[in-house]
Amino acid sequence: MSGTSLTRRRFIELGRHTAAVTLAAAAAPASVFAQVGRQETARGRPMPDDVSLPSTPPRSKRPDSVGYAIVGLGNYALNQMMPRFSQSARSHMAALVSGNPEKLRRVGDAYGVPADARYSYEQYDRIGTDRRIDAVYIVLPTGLHADYTVRAFAAGKHVLCEKPMALSSADCERMIAAGRRANRRLMIAYRVHFEPHNIEAMALMRRRAAGNIRFVRTEQLSRTDPSSTPAENWRLDKALAGGGPLEDYGIYGLQAALYLTNEMPESITAVTFRPANDPRFAQVFASVASQLRFPSGAIGQLMTSYDSSGANLVHVRGDTGALIMDPATGYKGHNMRLEGRERRDFSLGDPTVQFAGQLDNFSDAIRDGSTIRTPGEMGLRDIRLMEAIYAAAETGRAVRLSPDGRMLR
Ligand code: NAD
Repeated sequence: MSGTSLTRRRFIELGRHTAAVTLAAAAAPASVFAQVGRQETARGRPMPDDVSLPSTPPRSKRPDSVGYAIVGLGNYALNQMMPRFSQSARSHMAALVSGNPEKLRRVGDAYGVPADARYSYEQYDRIGTDRRIDAVYIVLPTGLHADYTVRAFAAGKHVLCEKPMALSSADCERMIAAGRRANRRLMIAYRVHFEPHNIEAMALMRRRAAGNIRFVRTEQLSRTDPSSTPAENWRLDKALAGGGPLEDYGIYGLQAALYLTNEMPESITAVTFRPANDPRFAQVFASVASQLRFPSGAIGQLMTSYDSSGANLVHVRGDTGALIMDPATGYKGHNMRLEGRERRDFSLGDPTVQFAGQLDNFSDAIRDGSTIRTPGEMGLRDIRLMEAIYAAAETGRAVRLSPDGRMLR
């Protein structure tokens, strides 16, 4: 193994296991999507469809339980994360932040969040004086993550921020710096790192259960409703979503390629596609495909789309076997198969433990000072790689990378 690949492996380890990665002071290249031309603000939205609220509020937790303010009451917060707080040993919902007063009232009543711990977006900065809140969980559209994170740190709170971390590496660096200044912790909500199949897949690849990895092929594909427009769907609005499917869904394929090869790519080529005259793709890409070359010789092929029939595949092919995860990174229903010298179908228990698992990891880090498995530095690393993917697509040329994911000029 070359010195360079050692360094790249080291960076992966650092990104995964510690928040102590040193950020060089040099300014990161601006994201092609950072120039949005308008300042986004948080605003209330209607209650999502099919939300099922608890009929009795959750029981209170142990005295050292971490109190979270949930910022943004959308689909993912209401349908996935909030119901899972009851499964976390050391986390509870202490406050809610929303721009829709009626939703705030209904959700607050259902989860037993006191009326004076329900904040509008205009009142957000007041959380600093609310001692019931230890941490905020930011589950807003991506274009708002950086601002709400920096303000939470200014208010003295810890931050669990949804993926993707932000829309530019400059914003990610701003978030990390704000956390350091405030001496508060920052975690990116990459739940897959707490999901049993993906954890086992990492272990299998580390012990070369498919031999030396030659290819990692990932497909994170979905089809956005043809009647959608950027005005009513923030995922199609560049100011809130960046380039679109890569940040939102393709990020899982990118992550998998890194945590399964356990390497950082040394160069990237890519193509993007945006059809003409389709209002869904007036601002974001329909599809992004990229090819990553790793120092070991492994090649990653990553496909993501908002305009394709659905897939959530991770396929690793080594020189003696293969690992197939299909679906790979969803909320539940995982399938995983190892082929080659070792043959096995995996059924590893309930994938939904991933939601409470990430809460436990962050709450333990806050209370005990323990390691965050998915720190801000990992979020920054991924946004740098996305910037490289867009730069490669824009120029039509391979982009070479330093071990920390920065583009080499
Ligand atoms: P959503 O549209 O259902 O909810 C977003 C919420 O943000 C809205 O309900 C609203 O309350 C609030 N909001 C504030 N300002 C807004 C604005 N200007 N425009 C639109 N909404 C605004 O979206 P979601 O699917 O819940 O996604 C929210 C975040 O969670 C995103 O960062 C997304 O990437 C992340 N997410 C993560 C996962 C995961 O598996 N980790 C899954 C889905 C979403």
